[in-house]
Amino acid sequence: MAKNNQAEHEPKLVKQLTLAGFDRMFPDENACKAYLRDRRWPKDVRCPRCGNEKVYASKARPFHWQCTNCGKTKRAPYRFSVTVNTVFENTNYKLLIWFRVLYLMLASKKGISALQIHRMIGSGSYRTAWFICHRLRAGLADPEFRQLMGIVEVDETFIGGKEANKHKSKRTGNVGTAGKIPVIGAIARKGNVVCQMIENTDTATLDSFVRKAVNRERVDLVATDEHSGYRLLGLGGDQFALPRSVIRHTSGEYVRGIVHPNTIEGFWSLLKRGVIGTYHKVSKKYLPLYLNEFAFRFNNRNTEDIFGAPIRGC
Ligand SMILES: [Zn+2]
Repeated sequence: MAKNNQAEHEPKLVKQLTLAGFDRMFPDENACKAYLRDRRWPKDVRCPRCGNEKVYASKARPFHWQCTNCGKTKRAPYRFSVTVNTVFENTNYKLLIWFRVLYLMLASKKGISALQIHRMIGSGSYRTAWFICHRLRAGLADPEFRQLMGIVEVDETFIGGKEANKHKSKRTGNVGTAGKIPVIGAIARKGNVVCQMIENTDTATLDSFVRKAVNRERVDLVATDEHSGYRLLGLGGDQFALPRSVIRHTSGEYVRGIVHPNTIEGFWSLLKRGVIGTYHKVSKKYLPLYLNEFAFRFNNRNTEDIFGAPIRGC
């Protein structure tokens, strides 16, 4: 029962770029460079240093430009390439390799391990694949966070530790959270998810996370469980009051009309299956990067150009 429910609530990723589609878009290195150029500079190429639009394309080197405005002298213009100030700069790997890794990452619902990527694209070494994956994940952070509206589900979970793998019936009951990393998330129904690693689950942490995550003017309902850390959300006092509804799991309650945590639980399920099944274990140091990756895939599940956003962010 529980297992079926998990799969049911996992978000569906609608837009998918097929492998054939990818190969058509990016047949070679120049196609990747042109794509990156057009994403970075939709109109004219600008100097990344001074913003000058009057830059000159280098005749000798394609996808390189010169800016005389901010060079040391007229004769020594500032030279830059299409990858300047991006994660792709100063690496020995071709853009095509980066793009292929990004494609595999975005097309894999539960993530893809660096080892698997290494086997699939032959990226030199496993470390190379690992490095590229982490750099890309860092670029997947949403720079334009928009607060959640409508019906918002909030929940906390713990990542890591063997206990989390076990079926509910096999857990020891008084499960300690030692060794596990707390993560909090909020999700707008039919909207976006925002999640982050937290140090602890005290009231100050939970309360301030929710208040930052939701749009106070446009949130209709905030569904949480009975964790005492959320108790102040519905109260006015020093802060604004939010329309909070509680689901009382301890009384066996899981759904009360529109008040339920199914969407956020579906996201947790996907994240945990990814962490356990794909990455096997995730350290505190890198968990924020994996959260970026899972949130990005989820939030861009209906985005036509799933490739464009991360390339811009890189
Ligand atoms: Zn310049």
